[in-house]
Amino acid sequence: MLHLAENLSRLGTETAFDVLARAAALQASGTDVINLGIGQPDFPTPEHIVEAAVKALRDGHHGYTPANGIAPLREGVAADLAKRHGIAVHPDRIVVVPGGKVTMFFAILMFGEPGAEIIYPDPGFPIYRSVIDYSGAKAVPLPLLERNAFAFSAEEVLARITPATRLIIINSPANPTGGVTPADEMDKLAKGLEDHPDVAILSDEIYSEMLYDGRRHRSILNYPALVDRAIMLDGWSKTYAMTGWRAGYAVWPEALAPIATRLAINCHSCVNAATQWAGLAALEGPRDAVDAMTDAFDKRRRIVTDALNGLPGFRCIEPAGAFYAFPNIEGTGMTAAEAQDRFLSEAGVATIAGTSFGDHGAGYLRVSYANSAENITRAIERMAAILS
Ligand code: PLP
Repeated sequence: MLHLAENLSRLGTETAFDVLARAAALQASGTDVINLGIGQPDFPTPEHIVEAAVKALRDGHHGYTPANGIAPLREGVAADLAKRHGIAVHPDRIVVVPGGKVTMFFAILMFGEPGAEIIYPDPGFPIYRSVIDYSGAKAVPLPLLERNAFAFSAEEVLARITPATRLIIINSPANPTGGVTPADEMDKLAKGLEDHPDVAILSDEIYSEMLYDGRRHRSILNYPALVDRAIMLDGWSKTYAMTGWRAGYAVWPEALAPIATRLAINCHSCVNAATQWAGLAALEGPRDAVDAMTDAFDKRRRIVTDALNGLPGFRCIEPAGAFYAFPNIEGTGMTAAEAQDRFLSEAGVATIAGTSFGDHGAGYLRVSYANSAENITRAIERMAAILS
């Protein structure tokens, strides 16, 4: 018998991948499945980004790169942050990693251990809770409520801080709710954190370019008082439709960047070279494809919200960011898990139960609108047929 490490029993998962596998299996057996489950843009990566990767390979970029990323890319990220958030970041604070997830894994492992507490959003991206549990730290949920449009309240975050709190995780625009925390709430949180100088903050800003109705993103990097303890997670997966390339980055406090780099050396050595050159082309190239994607998400957002609100037992607020709607389905009489199962097996529509994102997701379903307007409409018609 093999003796696996005890902490592995506490490692969770991301149900979206299980649903993706079930949807693929159903599809392979001839069922027409519409996938509103997975959180990835349904657009191809823009052509000039693909070309940059091909060129990098032809130019001979085949070897290891520096573990924290090639210098031109880190400089490119710094320039992009200056443009988007109006902040100056030294490229040495930037660590390029294979996807946004790697930053959260590193940050949680840096602070999580038995006796430590980490505050995380619930409902929230499932990997936060999974890795907190794995680390042995106590996971302290921060409930995100529909009546608050799924934004977090600074007061609620600050109220959860104890002497054992090491790290707070926030995410706006948010997965799975599409909630966006207003700038003044971010201001209050930053101000309140000044009274807790030993607490670090991980701000997951991977959806920061997917904001609607003229909203503007307020980055954690906009608070100079937090510069020594704020980790800002971002990446290429969502903005540039590059989920399969595996490219992300974080801005770390100066003292933590070398630790993140050491974790990278122990784990993956570096992001593959061609992907890094593609990432640079994404930041420096034309924006029309990105703008077109965001416009498409904005249009679908309205379509999906209207259609979901037309379903018996459903109630859905309009998401303010990202590409997820998070309808309340309590009126259907089904639990979130039952709804996920029935919509997939009986209607061929993949969605994700809210409970996959935490206990406060009970009674909700995540519907990704990273699919065509036609498919969204067709999917919701099929769901209506099940409900009637
Ligand atoms: N953070 C959030 C909130 C996400 O929703 C996701 C992906 O779904 C990630 C991070 C991870 O992104 P990546 O695919 O770059 O690892």
